[in-house]
Amino acid sequence: MRSTMMDTPLLISRILDHGSTVHGRSEVVTWTGGEPRRASYAEIGATAARLAHALRDDLGVTGDQRVATFMWNNNEHLVAYFAVPSMGAVLHTLNIRLFPDQVAWIANHAQDRVVLVDSTLIPLLAKVLPELRTVQHVVVVGGGDPAPLLAAGDGRIAVHAWDDLLRDKPDRYDWPELDERDAAALCYTSGTTGDPKGVAYSHRSIYLHSLQVCMPESFGLGPTTRELAIVPMFHAMSWGIPYAALISGASLIMPDRFLQGGPIAEMIAAERPTLAGAVPTIWTDLLAHLDAHPTDTSSLREVIVGGSACPPALMHAFAERHHIDVVHAWGMTEMSPLGSVARPPAGATGDAAWPYRYSQGRVPAGVQARIVGPGGEPLPADGAAVGELEVRGPWVTSRYVGDDAPDPDKFHDGWLRTGDVGMLSADGYLTLTDRAKDVIKSGGEWISSVDLENALMAHPAVLEACVVGVPDDRWDERPLATVVLREGSTATAGELKEFLGTKVARWQVPERWSFIEAVPKTSVGKFDKKRVRSRYADGDLT
Ligand code: ADP
Repeated sequence: MRSTMMDTPLLISRILDHGSTVHGRSEVVTWTGGEPRRASYAEIGATAARLAHALRDDLGVTGDQRVATFMWNNNEHLVAYFAVPSMGAVLHTLNIRLFPDQVAWIANHAQDRVVLVDSTLIPLLAKVLPELRTVQHVVVVGGGDPAPLLAAGDGRIAVHAWDDLLRDKPDRYDWPELDERDAAALCYTSGTTGDPKGVAYSHRSIYLHSLQVCMPESFGLGPTTRELAIVPMFHAMSWGIPYAALISGASLIMPDRFLQGGPIAEMIAAERPTLAGAVPTIWTDLLAHLDAHPTDTSSLREVIVGGSACPPALMHAFAERHHIDVVHAWGMTEMSPLGSVARPPAGATGDAAWPYRYSQGRVPAGVQARIVGPGGEPLPADGAAVGELEVRGPWVTSRYVGDDAPDPDKFHDGWLRTGDVGMLSADGYLTLTDRAKDVIKSGGEWISSVDLENALMAHPAVLEACVVGVPDDRWDERPLATVVLREGSTATAGELKEFLGTKVARWQVPERWSFIEAVPKTSVGKFDKKRVRSRYADGDLT
């Protein structure tokens, strides 16, 4: 029997119409270093209509064409997030922190036709513009001298000013009735472990994912939420927060280019966010700042930490010194990106909650997860069997952009192979021990680099610790610990070995130590283990 229900499509334009009317008074605030810029969601809706008219009427963008952004998190980027998919084109969020040749490779692969760029990023974009083969128009947001772009575009690429283009455009747009399965947005993985790969999200996948992001078991967004959206909008769609905000009426605070501990602390004190999300390195930086400069953070209910494993020491420090709950979450670009959120089960309070909070958490109903062995055979969810995690669901990609069929290295029997290794408990908690590529294989045994890092980062003198496997004649691989000490603190390798010996099995304690100024980071702020390994191979780390 067929259902009797209406089959209206799940579209981004529906989220925009809802957010800009029902939640028209919620706001987005962009930090400027001076007076913040504010826009209500009603204004975001009107500006999105103007941008869509400009793209279609003036630049000739038709359905399916790619419109890229090269932007920080700000009001105009939010407008683009809605205008481009709503008009039927495809939003492509370019990662501004990649090397120019990587940006060019990705923009060409995606066949971007238009690039929207923040004026502060003109010099960066100008460097790659000559290599962008499909781009015909660049739109500069926020004034600034377009001369470097004009020179780089060499007459082939037209350069426009956002304000001029949008002036006099109607503030309503008759959004087309699209197929919900069509691409709405395009994002490339940051390439932490290989070449960037494109994922094309559909209207339907974004809509469903946004509903899940709002659920209390996930991030819990609602009309009274003020979310400090630190995760870049060019990294895994800012964890889906922009779309979830207009669905739920949550207001947004956007840091633009001000991402250091100092300005983030100022934003918290001034704009009173209730929630925030970012990778661990941002929180490590903020914690050091807050410890040294007492700040009113009392509005912050929770901070979501994901993108890499969250060190338990960071959770305890925020809880004990600043009364902020750190909520650990796991996800991937390939998963829109929400995978799991570590909220303890009913009844687990106080100390009993911590083991659940350290884990990567539970998957929502929209994500199925399983652990498989080396031959791809499913292993029991018993909290003991360790294997590769596989997932599937309506907001998980089934292949990469440009591939006719799923790549067998990344997909298996209709499941996405995450490349993450860990276990699942009977009550659904996921614990990841490492990325498959980062597990250290020592004498036939596996050592989790993440376990060693977490243990080391619990030492009071250690700010950051990054552990990688390096070749060893006797054991194949052994761990190398690279350590950044806190300002004004001292610790020797001998002391840290002693300390580690009390936390992990003795045979896992590294023999090789290197004290460094800073751990190299990827374009999205994760420990760059590829670079640490190659620095060791080059003899830079001893
Ligand atoms: P990239 O693979 O280029 O880093 P993503 O940002 O999509 O791009 O990274 C997804 C990966 O990040 C996951 O497969 C996992 O290895 C890691 N990750 C994300 N969140 C967590 C977490 N909470 N704990 C451990 N690893 C995490």
